Amino acid sequence: MSKYNVVVVGAGILGLCSAYHIKRQNPDEKILIIDKFGSAGQGNTAKSEACFRNVFSSKTNFALANSTVDFYLHVHRELKHDLGLHLIGYLFLFSEDDYKRNKDVLEEMQRRGVELEYFERGDLERMIPGAVLEFDEKDEEAKMMNLESVEKGVLGKKCGYLEVEKLVNFYEEEFKRVGGEIRYNTVVQSLIIEPVKKFGVPGEPFVWQDSRITGVKTNRGEIRADTVVVATGAWTNALLDPIGVDSHIKPKKRQIFAVKGPSLEPLFNAKGFNDENILPFTILPKAGIYFRPDIGEGSCWVGCGDELGRAFKFEEEPQPEENYYFQDIYQVLRKYFPHFEGLKPQSSWAGLYAINTIDANPYVFREAGMIVVTGASGSGILKADAIGRVAAGVYMEEKYVEFFDGEKFRVSDLGVENRHVEKERFVL
Ligand SMILES: Cc1cc2nc3c(=O)[nH]c(=O)nc-3n(C[C@H](O)[C@H](O)[C@H](O)COP(=O)(O)OP(=O)(O)OC[C@H]3O[C@@H](n4cnc5c(N)ncnc54)[C@H](O)[C@@H]3O)c2cc1C
Repeated sequence: MSKYNVVVVGAGILGLCSAYHIKRQNPDEKILIIDKFGSAGQGNTAKSEACFRNVFSSKTNFALANSTVDFYLHVHRELKHDLGLHLIGYLFLFSEDDYKRNKDVLEEMQRRGVELEYFERGDLERMIPGAVLEFDEKDEEAKMMNLESVEKGVLGKKCGYLEVEKLVNFYEEEFKRVGGEIRYNTVVQSLIIEPVKKFGVPGEPFVWQDSRITGVKTNRGEIRADTVVVATGAWTNALLDPIGVDSHIKPKKRQIFAVKGPSLEPLFNAKGFNDENILPFTILPKAGIYFRPDIGEGSCWVGCGDELGRAFKFEEEPQPEENYYFQDIYQVLRKYFPHFEGLKPQSSWAGLYAINTIDANPYVFREAGMIVVTGASGSGILKADAIGRVAAGVYMEEKYVEFFDGEKFRVSDLGVENRHVEKERFVL
């Protein structure tokens, strides 16, 4: 039977980053990542829109995102490891009311160092040819759908997207380079609980014994470890519920529809927002709908952060719903961006967010000898490096960790017992 210092369950972006930072700081320890898929990043990491931003209302999310984005920029630019990164920005389109509601928090973000640029409706109309940002009183359709005119655009500058498989590849290679091991096609069926002091009596552990997680039972045998890190994203409850540990997250489906067509051309030629002269990742004022141009594919990836009516539900293989695109998203999208009129998605896919329903910040906590890393709430790619450093801090029982940008971060802030975070208002 193999024995490791640490077994990390899950080779998604959070498992990879946690394992990498633990191994980097403990080079002599035996660290193993296992995943049920045949390669890294095939879970919800592969389903993501792969966008990054430092525009967050919660100070914690900002710290996690800002340093992670700095690290990705460093890898891409200084280390010359191509991450397929495009700094195209995030453009929040606000109605008058939305803007009033968010004005204070935007100003607070700026004081914290978030680089924002403001645009009036007239500027945006010039910069995005063909966009409809003001609805006429006589537009019955807009009235029926409660669509509001855009009052202002707010551009987050240190934002964009990358190619997630390149990021996954970077961490996997780095982890292996420092001596980490990975086993794929290995399904963890359950976590092993054993008494700290064994008597070797059938029925152990009894309630009066101190017990802890000592390894994992897999389809390829048992693997023992001093510490098990559970980084299984939306699958977390499947491992923790049976042993009575609360993950504090719920899964919710999110879908992406890739739309392509000649009428989208102006969106790939929107000058003034970024050096690439392309429309940024754009968030509409209505219904949590967003999209971003994909430079490589020449398509726009459209999604929606729907809340009420969208079940918290685990599905092994969530499927995209074509009707949802046409009846829900498309109806709003084509009103603000008639460029999408008549276009059908060329491809689509769905995945699950692992949502922390209380404050939408991640969780990294130790319980019963294991470390749980989860709850990225739809922004795990863009915070992964910092979350991995916090996981290493928990493993090494440190009070503070240092992020890539030099920021000191209190490890217990992402825990359960001494959690200290602000509720996030900018969940997409
Ligand atoms: C549609 C969509 C769009 C998104 N867009 C963005 C975005 O633009 N930017 C952003 O930052 N984030 C985005 N996200 C969120 C992001 O994808 C997640 O936060 C991130 O991928 C979570 O990483 P993870 O490692 O926790 O989970 P995962 O990538 O799901 O990894 C978990 C791993 O655990 C493995 N596993 C699970 N159970 C077991 C088991 N029993 N045995 C062995 N292995 C197991 C799985 O195989 C999987 O590889 C998006 C998500 C979705 C669904």
